Amino acid sequence: MSEQPKTGQLTFVAPRRAKPQRHLADLTMAERRAAVAELGEKPFRADQLSRHYFTRLTGSPEQMTDLPGALRERLVEQLMPPLLTSVREITCDGGMTRKTLWKLFDGSLVESVLMRYPDRVTMCVSSQAGCGMNCPFCATGQAGLTRNMSTAEIVEQVVAGARALAGGEVPGGPGRVTNVVFMGMGEPMANYKAVIGAVRRLVDPAPEGLGISARGVTVSTVGLVPAIGKLADEGLPVTLAVSLHAPDDELRDTLVPINTRWKVAEVLDAAWSYAAKTKRRVSIEYALIKDINDQEWRADLLGRLLKGKLVHVNLIPLNPTPGSKWTASRPEDERAFVRRLEFHGVAVTVRDTRGREIDGACGQLAAAPQEPVVT
Ligand code: SAH
Repeated sequence: MSEQPKTGQLTFVAPRRAKPQRHLADLTMAERRAAVAELGEKPFRADQLSRHYFTRLTGSPEQMTDLPGALRERLVEQLMPPLLTSVREITCDGGMTRKTLWKLFDGSLVESVLMRYPDRVTMCVSSQAGCGMNCPFCATGQAGLTRNMSTAEIVEQVVAGARALAGGEVPGGPGRVTNVVFMGMGEPMANYKAVIGAVRRLVDPAPEGLGISARGVTVSTVGLVPAIGKLADEGLPVTLAVSLHAPDDELRDTLVPINTRWKVAEVLDAAWSYAAKTKRRVSIEYALIKDINDQEWRADLLGRLLKGKLVHVNLIPLNPTPGSKWTASRPEDERAFVRRLEFHGVAVTVRDTRGREIDGACGQLAAAPQEPVVT
């Protein structure tokens, strides 16, 4: 594990570590065919493998009956190595919320959370083991950055959720993943290439990918401005979420240390360009912290910044994290904050804090292996 960062310290470049083995989810269909050809096999085997993985959601050779026995083993070994091992699963909300702790090939730990709602299933995935952005109210930020995850390691979290749903393991009958949010551990825009690869695999139609609608995918960032610009040019209409948490630089410098690099005005400019290019409404994430960022005058300032823009504000009552002195706002302050934003005509909702009792809610993912198991 990495060392605990000092207050305000940012880590952009992930420590160099051994890379996980190549997996077909790292590759486009053309690259998969080339990889299979390199192994001396017919390229159409790549299509068969892809169907098993992305359509049938299976990785076990026994089920690949359209492939000759010996070849199955070899192709699976070469192109579908096991990347994630489930260490622990914790559920709440009668099984509708489930957090999984995964061990990666090198022992790194990450978490993902599946949330089933009446009309959709959202998978919240990690993009890095740890995080280098060091937001003081976020449990992940306190542990520092261990390493970047590969595209396939990111995709596997969603495939695992899809498998559990298809297999009827989640109460409510068989289902599918409709939404994916990059709101687990890590800063997705600091692991840009792997994250874009993962987004493409998620939205590519089966069997090249999982065939999830791009509209159901949300990439959340602390505000790495150049990367937001790049994302806007990818031609992928995913939702951009910006973790703002303060409308003024003075406070945001301390709550979201990246603000010392790119100021509120620059982040919002990047967000508006993103909205203009993609025609997608940008989400502004704002954790309401008692007596820190929840004053009416700050709501007013935020309202003036966002007024008239293609934007939606998600207020998140602060979730408790170990060692943090902060707590969620008083209900009356939360209500006043909402009213001020509405006064400016800004769309706003208060996010439900699913998974709080299993430390699976926003900012609580810390992958501590010693947590009690409370199934
Ligand atoms: N690094 C990216 C992706 C993580 S998303 C980002 O920051 O956007 C996780 C979201 O939960 C972010 O909006 C983050 O600021 C928020 N969050 C972190 N700690 C929290 C806490 N203790 N309570 C509520 N929200 C929190």
